[in-house]
Amino acid sequence: MPWCEECAKYYTPNSVKSDGSCPTCGDAIQLPEGHDHSHDAAVADDEKTPWHFKLMVGMVVVYLGWRLIQLFV
Ligand SMILES: [Zn+2]
Repeated sequence: MPWCEECAKYYTPNSVKSDGSCPTCGDAIQLPEGHDHSHDAAVADDEKTPWHFKLMVGMVVVYLGWRLIQLFV
């Protein structure tokens, strides 16, 4: 939930101004951190590409290259 430290108050996303500031004091409102964490997890998953997946892609490339060479021999 959006939280304004200045007012020490929670706001619903709909009651926050469109620019993300507090409707009462105009201060920037802290957005919930849950979204950021899920984003970090998604990035971490992308970086953790399994090595056997890379190996499989490499073998497919080699196999297709070999088949391509055979077409011309
Ligand atoms: Zn406020």
